Parts: sequence; C-alpha cells; structure tokens
Amino acid sequence: MKKQGSSSCCLWSTLIGLFTICGCVVLGSGLFLFANEVNRIANATPTPITTCEGLLENIHKTYGANKNIQVDKRYILNVYSVKGDQISEPQKESVPENLLPLQNDLESHQLIWDYFVFIIPLEQRVPLTEYRIFSDGSGNTSGYNEIQWTWRGEDESETWALEVDLADYQDLKSANNVLVHEFGHMLTLNLRQADVRTEPAKCRFYADENQCSFEESYLNRFFSQFWKGELYEEWKAVASHADQEAVKRGLTSFYQAHQQEFVREYAATAPKEDVADSWTYFVMTPRPTGETVAEQKILFFYDFPELVDLRSQIRSRICGYYHMPE
Ligand SMILES: [Zn+2]
Repeated sequence: MKKQGSSSCCLWSTLIGLFTICGCVVLGSGLFLFANEVNRIANATPTPITTCEGLLENIHKTYGANKNIQVDKRYILNVYSVKGDQISEPQKESVPENLLPLQNDLESHQLIWDYFVFIIPLEQRVPLTEYRIFSDGSGNTSGYNEIQWTWRGEDESETWALEVDLADYQDLKSANNVLVHEFGHMLTLNLRQADVRTEPAKCRFYADENQCSFEESYLNRFFSQFWKGELYEEWKAVASHADQEAVKRGLTSFYQAHQQEFVREYAATAPKEDVADSWTYFVMTPRPTGETVAEQKILFFYDFPELVDLRSQIRSRICGYYHMPE
C-alpha cells in the first residue's frame, strides 16, 4: 500500500510587492550578498559563544523578500536526491524565463542545504530523500514538505522531500524561520507521531486529512490543550469551505477574532501549522511569561525535556554560524 501527498507549507514573507519595478536586480544582488555572506562565514574560524538572544529576537524583523518575481503558478525548478548530508547533481525542470536565475543559482541551493544540515542534527531528521527548489514567486509559500508513506502488513516507512522557494530568501537569516518551521513539521508529523493507515474518520485523536495522531504525540497533546472544542469547530467551518477565496477571507477573520491565541497569522491556518509555528517561536525567541494563549503555546514545548535539549542544540548551531569573527 502506498499513500502520498501530505504536504505542509509555510508562508513567511511579509514584504510582498514593495519592489515591483526592480525585482530582478534586487534579486540578483540579494543572492550575491547571500553567497558572499556564507563564503565569509565558511572561511572564518568559529569562536565559542554562549548566547545570541539579540540575533534570534531580530530574526522575525529581518525576514521577508524585498524583491518581486511574479509567476502564474508553482514551479519545481531543481530536484536533488539526498543521501545523509549530501545532495546529488540537480535534475532541472522546465521553468519560465524569469525563474532561470533562481534555477541556475546552484551555489545558493547548496548553501541553503548545507545550512539546513548544519542547524538540524542528523539524528533528529526524518528520512529525507529529496531536496527541491521551487518557486511560486515572491511572497506566498516559502517552504514545503511532501511526505510519502508505504506499508506492507505491519511494516511501514516514510520518505520526505524538503522544498524551498529561493525567491523568498534574501539571506541565510531569512531562511532560518522557514527551515526551523519545516523541521517542526518533520518533528510532529513523522511515523513515530502519527498513524497513516487509520482513516481520519475513525481516528480517536487529532486527525488531519492524511494522518491520525497518536494519543501522546506532540500534535495531539497540543491540539487537546489549545484547539479541541469550540475553536476547532469554528476553524473547521471556515477551512472546509469549497471556495478558496472564502477560506482565505474566513481564516483572516478567524485570526483577527483570536489574535491573542496565535503567535502570528499563519499559525491560525491549521492546527499542524500552529504547532510548527509555535515550535519555531519556541526555538527562536526567549522563554515567554505565558500571559497570552499564544505564549502558553510556546511554553507547551518546555514540558518536553527532549525538545528543550533540541532547542539548545539548534540555537547553538545557529548562533555558532553567525557569531564568527569579522
Ligand atoms: Zn508549514
């Protein structure tokens, strides 16, 4: 048996449409700066550091694509096979002309991949078999996961593909949130957390369209604590609408009505996005006091010693990457 197509996406860009005229020029220089920055870091000698709170707090403010690439739909640009920490030569897909600079920027593809494997410890990663560069233009979706499951009898396995939209990354700092968010999906939707064979309608715990969470999974516990009941019913009424524009408008109103309960607007689009976003804030920001529900969602992760440990590892890797001598 085989099941595929579960996907998790992530929208982080906020500065859409500010540079509509000189989009390509800005894009070119952005990636050039990006490559320079990484070269500088790669050539520097790391120095031990104990904290980089300031950097992590500012990450959200520095995020966003200050360029403008418009395309009519979502395109896969390049596909890389993954083995451990290594990626293969790319398989190039056919794309519109304005995406060619992104497609041909192999150096940036490699840099983002290297950065991902640098900040996320190997033993924590799900079975990643593909790394893809895609683009749906500036803004919109910045990262994506595609999961495939297969099973025979009791044996089941999963493979994951990580996708990133280069149009939305101006530098590595801007890639931080997306990569940690996408890893949040890997952490909460893998086969140790959810069953893919139980039909959602028969699932006793939280289920999305593809998976049935285990009772003790992070997602089911998060859902039980923060979503179950009226909030979920209200969200479902909005999210299940057949008209996608109505869903979009409805989710905006839903967020506005519950702003104190979400770390940002995108978190309100689905429980699995909420858990991935709250995870990202848990990793990237200082421990909050818990005055709002949004803050309590961040505090949720502190109840798991293994996640507190993972947070420290990821933060020290990110900080180690940036706190290099000039
Ligand atoms: Zn997501």
